[in-house]
Amino acid sequence: MPYAAPLDDIRFLLNRIAPVARLTGLPRYAHVDAGDAERVIEEAARIASDVIAPLNAPGDRAGARLENGVVVTPAGYPAAYRKLAADGWCGLSLPTEHGGQGMPQLVQTVFSELVSGASLAFGMSLISSVGGAKVIGAHATPAQAALFLPQLAAGTGTATIVMTEPHAGSDIGLARTRAVAKGDGTWAISGTKIFISYGDHDLCDQILHIVLARTPDAPPGIKGLSLFLVPKRLPDANGAPGVANRVRAARVEDKMGINGSPTCEMLFEEATGWLLGREGDGIRNMFTMVNSMRLDVGAQSAGVAGAALAKAQAYVQERRQGGRGADGGPAPLIAHADVRRQLMQMRAWTEGYRALLYTAALEEDLANAGPEAERGAARDLVEWLLPLVKAGGSDAAFRVANQAIQLHGGHGYVFEHGVEQLARDVRIAAIYEGANAIQAIDLVTRKLAQESGRRARVFAARIRSSLAAVRGRRETAEIAAALEAALTPFERATQYMLAHAASRDGLAGASSYLELAAVIAVGWMWLEMAAKADPAAPAEAAKPALARFFAEDALPACDLLARRAMSGAAAIDSLGDAALCAS
Ligand SMILES: Cc1cc2nc3c(=O)[nH]c(=O)nc-3n(C[C@H](O)[C@H](O)[C@H](O)COP(=O)(O)OP(=O)(O)OC[C@H]3O[C@@H](n4cnc5c(N)ncnc54)[C@H](O)[C@@H]3O)c2cc1C
Repeated sequence: MPYAAPLDDIRFLLNRIAPVARLTGLPRYAHVDAGDAERVIEEAARIASDVIAPLNAPGDRAGARLENGVVVTPAGYPAAYRKLAADGWCGLSLPTEHGGQGMPQLVQTVFSELVSGASLAFGMSLISSVGGAKVIGAHATPAQAALFLPQLAAGTGTATIVMTEPHAGSDIGLARTRAVAKGDGTWAISGTKIFISYGDHDLCDQILHIVLARTPDAPPGIKGLSLFLVPKRLPDANGAPGVANRVRAARVEDKMGINGSPTCEMLFEEATGWLLGREGDGIRNMFTMVNSMRLDVGAQSAGVAGAALAKAQAYVQERRQGGRGADGGPAPLIAHADVRRQLMQMRAWTEGYRALLYTAALEEDLANAGPEAERGAARDLVEWLLPLVKAGGSDAAFRVANQAIQLHGGHGYVFEHGVEQLARDVRIAAIYEGANAIQAIDLVTRKLAQESGRRARVFAARIRSSLAAVRGRRETAEIAAALEAALTPFERATQYMLAHAASRDGLAGASSYLELAAVIAVGWMWLEMAAKADPAAPAEAAKPALARFFAEDALPACDLLARRAMSGAAAIDSLGDAALCAS
């Protein structure tokens, strides 16, 4: 079944839930109108189905490989990338003064979702460059920005995020890659980095590596890390990519999914780099990129969940097994109660997370470019939502893809329908850009604990204001009642986490607390969608029924999740390491 973008749902969300029109009136986006945004998204949907989706299954089979020291991507990748670059897609949200189109993050997020739904592996080639551009824009000198940003906007260069080392994954403070000043304003970078997405490739000539490295005499841990820009090709006298720098791919990983995306071990052998920002600020500056990538992982998850849902919806109508259909033959799968239950769950989570993703992207735009008085609250909300979108979204996408396999039965386990690829591909979303457990720790120890819980209060206040707006309305009665009831255990768990954030009890409950907050956030989205859907519009008419289902099927779990979040560490620490690992 070919990929088709969920355009009706996207239009509904951009009109009513995360209105793009709230942005087009802002000075930063004076050059964009809502019609432009809609045209961009329609064209992106066409490219996703016609240009990118056909690469997905063959790219999975062929994989990326290292040939004579050069990384070769699957057949069709270079041509498709160059077409997208020539048509301006690489610069969609990059600043206009550097050759980009200056579109809002919200539009970029929809684009990232669509390309990921068509092919997660190929889409990654476009996505990390956007985060790289943000780091360069925020922390490079104006001259460096003027040199490198136009390459990213034109797609003649891509950017990588280069953090992980063999012994330094989640604990990035262990990184050993060294940076030594050469005395001419540049640095010599040496070390081995692993798992670098698109660390090398044949899509275009230039790659801008954004590398975390340790300067001489720097303190141990994350405070000793600085950020460097290390181009694959050094700029020549005119600033164009010139001779090769001393950086190369030593290996491309064989892996479970996203096989078309080269995951590279990279050797930096006294490669020339430029410091981005100040020495010792590496982690803080890298977070400009990591935060952008977390939103993108949410977009990847929404894209894959949408693709899996669409495949399942088509299959359950066509496959006949069991029962009795209208023509006396076996009934289509969709007639069976358990099949319908799973489809309802898949839709409720997919559309609920898509709404949450767009809400987070809109708040990001408002935090950066909204009216001055609204920026603080928008910043609080988006910082709160990011770990939920990344971790909750990636977990939900894997569940949805897994259910799509289940609904296809054995036909989902074999390659024919491509649903198994969706599950394999999206599995990485829970691991990279900070594994989901690390997102939960970030939520509890930073997003919640800093400012004495202010971000959680902003979140709860927004939900309460949505509840107040629908009071007395019949079509939202069930979702409003269930959400209101779920806020009680959420607020209790929030108080517990605030009191225990710094202790092992808090860490023991962090993942359950994140899951709880994510269910509440998606419940909020269903309240909003049920309240704002037009019953006469075919694409929106189902929203109140799906909201009722979410109220019944998902929100009651909040009691259990809160109890789990507050259960402390005593039970998990009740066995010694040896006893826990004994068979
Ligand atoms: C396909 C792919 C692409 C990638 N792309 C990039 C890239 O482009 N750039 C880049 O720099 N890296 C990239 N990575 C690396 C990725 O970000 C890391 O794999 C990830 O951060 C986890 O690190 P790790 O694999 O060393 O796992 P570990 O850190 O060893 O963690 C293993 C498990 O332990 C848990 N854990 C670890 N510490 C804690 C803790 N303190 N509390 C609770 N649980 C904990 C983790 O949640 C995880 O479940 C990629 C990885 C893959 C597989």
